[in-house]
Amino acid sequence: MEQKQKGILVVFSGFSGSGKGTVMQELMRLYAKDYALSVSATTRQPRAQEEDGREYFFKTREEFEKMIEKNELIEYALYVENYYGTPKAYVEEQLAAGRDVILEIEIQGAKKIKEMFPDALLLFVAPKDARTLRERLILRGTESAEVIEARLCRAFEEALGMEAYDYLVINDELMECVKEVHSIIRSEHRKISRNQGFVEKIRDELKFFQKENEI
Ligand code: 5GP
Repeated sequence: MEQKQKGILVVFSGFSGSGKGTVMQELMRLYAKDYALSVSATTRQPRAQEEDGREYFFKTREEFEKMIEKNELIEYALYVENYYGTPKAYVEEQLAAGRDVILEIEIQGAKKIKEMFPDALLLFVAPKDARTLRERLILRGTESAEVIEARLCRAFEEALGMEAYDYLVINDELMECVKEVHSIIRSEHRKISRNQGFVEKIRDELKFFQKENEI
């Protein structure tokens, strides 16, 4: 039997307004058994419709700083004046159980993850152009004009760091983008470097046939 692979740590980033949250929701809806989506902690205020423990664990600044002190986060970053961080325990449990874990995080966090887990797969999602991004942020209507401007400035900074990622996906047609993300992750599982157990097993089996032929 093929040896069970360890789960892949997948980082999914994109500009604010790129639709990455929706891409993740659809990915989880279609392929729930394949992936575990990590729920981050944040100090930002919940948006209408957001629930504690579902989109985020909403924390006060003090609570968040306690989590940092107690080393409960794999990584954390400040993003437009709020803290965001990935709780460690869930990610470690799920990876050990062989599930792929998805972190929907921004670029500073993504870079820290790549340093700590060189095997992590980094995906970046972008809209087809900058104008679409601005329109989406305005239409979403969840942030003030000031915060939208700050997020667009941040998007420019993030664009300067896109080379840190392994793959780019364009979120123009939602379902196509979701399928593409799924297919990239499936392909990653087929990499020779992630299948060393199989490679060694089949080598041993073939070696056995060589001996038989010698007799
Ligand atoms: P939003 O406020 O729009 O939900 O998220 C703002 C940014 O924070 C997004 O780019 C999102 O991906 C990022 N983010 C969410 N959770 C985390 C986290 O745990 N760590 C880091 N570094 N970034 C996060």
